[in-house]
Amino acid sequence: MNYNVDEKGYYGDFGGAYVPEMLYANLTELKENYLRITKEESFKKELNGLLASYVGRPTPLYFAERLSKKYNTKIYLKREDLCHTGAHKVNNTIGQILLAKRLGKTRIIAETGAGQHGVATATVCALMGIKCVIYMGELDIKRQAPNVARMKMLGAKVSPASSGSKTLKDATNEAIRDWINNPLDTHYIIGSVVGPHPYPDMVARFQSVISEEIKKQLNEIEGREYPDHLIACVGGGSNAAGLYYHYLNDSRVKIIAVEAAGKGINSGKSAATSALGKEGIIHGSKTLLMQTKDGQITEPYSISAGLDYPGVGPMHAHLFRSKRAEFISITDQDAMDWGLTLSQMEGIIPAIETAHAFAVLDIKSFNPDDIIIFNCSGRGDKDLDTFINYFQL
Ligand SMILES: *Cc1c(COP(=O)(O)O)cnc(C)c1O
Repeated sequence: MNYNVDEKGYYGDFGGAYVPEMLYANLTELKENYLRITKEESFKKELNGLLASYVGRPTPLYFAERLSKKYNTKIYLKREDLCHTGAHKVNNTIGQILLAKRLGKTRIIAETGAGQHGVATATVCALMGIKCVIYMGELDIKRQAPNVARMKMLGAKVSPASSGSKTLKDATNEAIRDWINNPLDTHYIIGSVVGPHPYPDMVARFQSVISEEIKKQLNEIEGREYPDHLIACVGGGSNAAGLYYHYLNDSRVKIIAVEAAGKGINSGKSAATSALGKEGIIHGSKTLLMQTKDGQITEPYSISAGLDYPGVGPMHAHLFRSKRAEFISITDQDAMDWGLTLSQMEGIIPAIETAHAFAVLDIKSFNPDDIIIFNCSGRGDKDLDTFINYFQL
């Protein structure tokens, strides 16, 4: 079984590029150049230099002693929350902007829901002095004021999408329209392992620095490169893809993907794509997504903005169908409780997305000498208001 992308842009049954003909030229340019450019020595040198001095890599692999004692197993945290801007997303945006520069692009566009990807994109555009337009649903602009302010401070233009439900999918439509109209000077930075080929593979490769570092770090600490279990939350799936990447074909390593059950899988208010999803096309690729009987995309729900997405990337749809990964869904309530638990047991306030992953510890049991690595995808500062309201802090 192959878990990486094939030559046609598929992961098993999933992936591909289902886009309007007007986008063929843009995607072909990317497809024909991304592997060549990212393998160039000068590219790797510039990227690795910035990952070290700007992003703050390598991020630590931290042994969580109190948690390990409580659950009688060996628990490590890969600290992506310590990346500049507070989450893993910048690993991808910094890679894509260097690629865009080498393709001669002078303008960047992106879509954003909660604003996290918008901030990570605006950040690298400021770093490179490149013009930046972020598309965001009108409703999301109202709900996510601090991130809108951050993007503006960083010099980006935030362009409201006022059609449809005025949320992420409408912002995505606007970004695609922009790209069709500006194929020569503009690069579109997608924020997760979603979208038409080659985006899922390109984003996974930029995030794969996570598992590349783990191999080295774990070998230094434990004398072996591989853990027994890898656990990450999955929205679109980019932090998870980065965590799994170098272990996909290592059958000694068990892979767990954690989705948002929201108020419960059968409550009508969730984002548990693998449990509820059917094959369909979203964002230009064939994958699993939540939809009605006649194929309309269902509005997802999760208390965490980053997991509030109706699909998963095609790599994850394939990991699910082939049973390479086990998918578990966690409710808002359990995730919120774990936000407090991790804060008080380890002194680490996690993003609500990240907190979902840890709730697996209450569901599955592990052996005392198992090595488990959680991807600590982001820090909780952005979620403070949600924590305050939820727990009446
Ligand atoms: C955006 C985000 C996620 C979800 O996105 P993936 O592409 O699934 O990784 C998870 N955690 C944090 C902290 C995020 O900001």
